[in-house]
Amino acid sequence: MTIKHHLNDDLLMAYAAGNLSEAFSLAVATHISLCDECRAALAAYEAMGGAILEGGADLALMSEDALVRAMARLDALPAPAASPKKPKHPVLPAPLQDYVGTDLSAIKWRKLGMGVRQAILPTKGKGGSARLLYIPAGQAVPDHGHRGMELTLVLKGAFRDETQHFARGDIEIATEADEHTPVALGDEDCICLAVTDAPLRFNALIPRLMQPIFRI
Ligand SMILES: [Zn+2]
Repeated sequence: MTIKHHLNDDLLMAYAAGNLSEAFSLAVATHISLCDECRAALAAYEAMGGAILEGGADLALMSEDALVRAMARLDALPAPAASPKKPKHPVLPAPLQDYVGTDLSAIKWRKLGMGVRQAILPTKGKGGSARLLYIPAGQAVPDHGHRGMELTLVLKGAFRDETQHFARGDIEIATEADEHTPVALGDEDCICLAVTDAPLRFNALIPRLMQPIFRI
């Protein structure tokens, strides 16, 4: 599996610092469970946080020297070991199994129309909602923009938006400025984890009317 679309530094740092909502933490943890590269980057951020805490220093108050020393200690850390190669990955990685179990066929989907289905995950707190989206092969998710940020992580199959292609493990980070129409690619149905920090904003009238009902 070659992952092309990764988490950004802001998300990794916020996750390392424990500053993300449960829904966003779930998306980050799920990507990290599939991605050696982001797992290594996270380990570095966590080590940096630890080094700063150990020194009893606040980053803002730290002298340049102390920061350089902390970074040097970070460089000296051994690289995290690559995850052991398993013969077959389950579609639902471990972080998601706490929410939906391991059995894809046991997920209680709700229809969104055009064959698209969703299952809202029971995350607590404000600051985001998480759902699994099921998109039949060749089908598009209704055209939508966002308020805030949306993370879409592919678990099965693949989708493309206007310009890019996303396969298992890839995470799309869409912001308020992005209008996109994800389309499931190939002949395999696509399952994604989608996390938003505000309700999606649909452009077509019908989905907009359905928005309060489906909480999307
Ligand atoms: Zn990654």
